[in-house]
Order: sequence, then structure tokens, then C-alpha cells
Amino acid sequence: MSWSAQTLLQSLAATAEQLLDFAIPPYCPLCRDVLAQPAQAAVCYCLQCSRRLAEQTGDRCQRCSAAVGPWSSTQRGCVHCRGRTLRFRSAVCLGMYHDDLRRALLSAKWSFSSVQMQSLARLLAHRCAPQLHALQVDRVIPIPQHWRQRLLRHFNPAWLVAEQLAGVLNVPCDIHILRKSRRTRPQKRVSVTQRFDNQKQSYAIQDAAVIRGERILIVDDVLTTGATCSEVAGVLLKAGAAECHVAVIARVLDHSA
Ligand SMILES: [Zn+2]
Ligand SMILES: [Zn+2]
Repeated sequence: MSWSAQTLLQSLAATAEQLLDFAIPPYCPLCRDVLAQPAQAAVCYCLQCSRRLAEQTGDRCQRCSAAVGPWSSTQRGCVHCRGRTLRFRSAVCLGMYHDDLRRALLSAKWSFSSVQMQSLARLLAHRCAPQLHALQVDRVIPIPQHWRQRLLRHFNPAWLVAEQLAGVLNVPCDIHILRKSRRTRPQKRVSVTQRFDNQKQSYAIQDAAVIRGERILIVDDVLTTGATCSEVAGVLLKAGAAECHVAVIARVLDHSA
């Protein structure tokens, strides 16, 4: 698909989104209560749902962001990621992929509007602000989709999340430097053990000089085995990036993938 055709589709989608916002009374997409706050609020969920989405507490694995028991040392990973080759150094997420966050993410991914995904990204940015700022990244790069995948949805969830995080961190969000060069089987249809092989050599970098020596934040909507983010981190490191970290909306445990 040409860039001009894609741009036209995106502008049509944006117009439709504005019309929908005008025509439908604003309600919380999670509990369906009519919202008390104005439609332009930073987050589209009601106050109670926003709190529930961002309130998953407890310790997280520094390496893969899975929930772990108290007092666990996770410098070398946790039971969910230990022994697995992950080329990124750390990962943060809004929460684990269950209950309200699972419902919210599924709704956001298949919504015609990008508002829900942007709201989840803002909750992530707010909840993980200390960790994200401490990483001192130079650039945010979302996981790219193959052009055929882009035809199915009018937005790439990872792009929307990456744009929000880059805005908060005041660094560039680069959506062109990386491209998906080979179409892969959807990770959901591949066994957990085959997912790393499925992603091999499926991403290509456009201009390595841009990221040389930089700390990169790789962004996706979910992290399951870590195969996709690890493959992208490997490509970026090979191109000269200094280190890579990951931020996602939700951490999916392998057994629920
Ligand atoms: Zn609600
Ligand atoms: Zn872990």
C-alpha cells in the first residue's frame, strides 16, 4: 500500500473517530457508566476503573516484569524468564494480563477509536514514571507491524503507546527506523518454545547511524515470552545501540498465551 493511500485511510479514520466522539455520549468503556469528567479528559475510563487498572500492586521481575512473590531477587530473572535469552535489560508494564486489564486491552485493540489505547498508555506512563525516567532513554521505538497487518487495523497499538511514552519522557518516537521485513506466523499460533525461532531475522533497520550509542525503549502492547522484543533488541544492539529496555501495557504469562 502506498504512503498516500495509507495517509488517506488514517485521516478518514481520524474524521470518523471525531464524529463518533461527537455523536455518542462519553461513557467509560470498561464499566459503561456515563463519565462525570469532560470528554477531553486525559484518560477515557472513569475514576474507579482508572484506579483499578493501575492499582495492581506487588513486586515485579526487573527483567520481564512478571509479578513475583515478595522478597524475590529478580536481578537474574524470575521463574517465568530465567534461562531464557532476552536481549533487553529490563521491562515495565502497567499490570498482568488478567481481569480488568485484559478486558480493557482487548477492547482497546479492537476499538475503531485509538482513545482507549492512548488512555492505557497514559496510565502506564503515570504508574511507571519513576522507572521509565530512571532509564534515561534517548529514543522510543515501537514494534513495527508488517504492512499486511496494518491493513487489518487502522492503528498499530504499539505506535500509540510509544507516542504517549515518548511525550512523557520528552524523547523522539521513531516509527520509521525499524521495519518488519518478513511476515511471520502470529505468535499466538506458534508454540511457546518456537516463538523465538518464528521471529528470527524478521526485522530490519533503516539507518543504523541514528541509534548508535543510544539507550532505546522498545514498546509493544503485550509481552509474553519476550521473543519479539528480544529479536528487536538484538537488531538494535547489532546496529550499535548501547542498551535496550522494554515497556508494555500488559505482561502475559506463557501458560495464558
Ligand atoms: Zn468505569
Ligand atoms: Zn522474569
